[in-house]
This record gives sequence, structure tokens and C-alpha cells, in this order.
Amino acid sequence: MSWFKREDADFEPGPSNGSSGGEKTVRTEGLWVKCLGCRQTIWKAELEANLNVCPKCQHHFKLSARQRIDSLLEPGYELVDTGLRSTDPLNFTDVKPYKQRLRTAQESTGLSDAILNATGCLGRHEVVLSAMEYAFIGGSMGAVVGETIARAVDRARLGRKPLIVVAASGGARMMEGVVSLMQMAKISTALAQLDDARVPYICVLTDPTTGGVTASFAMLGDLNIAEPGALIGFAGPRVIEQTIRQKLPEGFQRSEFLLEKGFLDAIVPRPRLKSYLVRALDFLKVPAV
Ligand SMILES: [Zn+2]
Repeated sequence: MSWFKREDADFEPGPSNGSSGGEKTVRTEGLWVKCLGCRQTIWKAELEANLNVCPKCQHHFKLSARQRIDSLLEPGYELVDTGLRSTDPLNFTDVKPYKQRLRTAQESTGLSDAILNATGCLGRHEVVLSAMEYAFIGGSMGAVVGETIARAVDRARLGRKPLIVVAASGGARMMEGVVSLMQMAKISTALAQLDDARVPYICVLTDPTTGGVTASFAMLGDLNIAEPGALIGFAGPRVIEQTIRQKLPEGFQRSEFLLEKGFLDAIVPRPRLKSYLVRALDFLKVPAV
């Protein structure tokens, strides 16, 4: 027996169930989103105008790589290093072939992999910006992501422009096995050279930044700053609890907890991120050679 029965059967069906809705029906799907923070319904246009931050509770929704670059750089920036494609070195298949996953992700995001490099101006500073795309296989780092970031680092070093990386990643890309793990060492080496050249590097950690990305370039900035409430960690909480056989504290692996424990330099809400970076770059001058 059902607990609810509609008494009047003559309601107008929407267009989604196949029957013609007539002129009176307005398609509203996709105009509203439910906030994951305060559970309130927000108008999508209002959310987008506020850089995908909930106007009611300040919950930070994810931003795509392209939106991130648009939010930070002045118009007229240039996308660079866009031609790289993964070759699927292990010919890997889990529930579906890795080649197929790549194709689907490329079609849905319009990107060749989970990263976009750009050069342009952040306020009055010429910078190299590398932004990760979480919608592309969880922002995982394979050979293409690793190489693209390494090229951004080299570009920053050779052009003596500060480097900003916006991390959003589930970690190394398991479909590329050891090739993905190698990227950690490659990028870290390039960053050491950048440090020797005394060119500043700022990493912005967004929700989520985990695994091999946290364990390499995301924690190697001259400044490591995060967005509020971002999940940042290496292994997941369940794995850690089972390993150390202890209950983890409240708020573990969130940016606020990491700031308190000294792992981060600052937490900056997204609407203030650009002005914060401009001021940080005023301070971290690139010395002349
Ligand atoms: Zn909210």
C-alpha cells in the first residue's frame, strides 16, 4: 500500500515524461540548484554571478579550469601548451577502457586533459597560471597533466614571471600507473629549479586536493593558500583510521584544520582571491637577473 495517493488525476504532465506539455509549461530544469552547504535552493544565475559561491552560506562550489582562469586573469590572456594528449601507455581497462574514459571526458569538458595553462595579467602582474579541471576524470594527474604543469613551471622560470597553480584533484591517475607517479618527481624537480631562479610560486588548493597532487606541487608553493572548507589530504580518512586505529578529529582534512596545524599559509574566500594574489605578488617581487 502506498502512503500517498493523488486524488485529482488531471494535473498537467511536464515535458520530461514524454507527453506534450502545451504552451503553458515552462522548462525550469537546470535553472535552480540545491546548495550542498545550506540545503537551500539557489538561482543558478545568481550563483554563477557570485563565482559559484553560495550567496546564502558561502559554500564554495567547484569552478571549471576555464572559469577559474576567467575569474583571475584580465581579458586577453593566452591559453598555452594545449596540444598534449594521453597515449594510454598501459592500454588500461577497468570497467571500461581508459581510451573511452578519455574520449568521454574530452567531449564533456572540451579539454584535452585535466589541466589548462594560460599566460596573461593578474592585475598589474604578468603571470603563468595553471588551473586543474576536476570534471576531467576527477582532476587526476597523468602524464599530460604532469607535463603541462612542468611546462608552466619552465615557462615561469624562463620568462621570469610568477607561477600560480590552482589545484583540484583526486590524485595520481591510476590508469597510467607508474607513469602518473613519476609526474610528482618531475614537477617537484622543475619547482626546485624555479626556486633556485628566485621566481615566486603560489599554489591555491581548492576542493578537493588529494593524493599525489598534495604530496607534490600543491604543498610546495612559496605561499600555499586554500579556499574555505576545501578537502585537502593525502590518503582518505577511512584508510588513515584503519591504519592508525584511532578516531580522527572533527574537521580533519578541511582547510581550516590544516591552517590551524600550520600546513597552510592562509584561507582566502573566492571573491577575495584575485585581490589577495595581486597583493601577495606585490610582496613577492621577482628579482632582476
Ligand atoms: Zn548555501
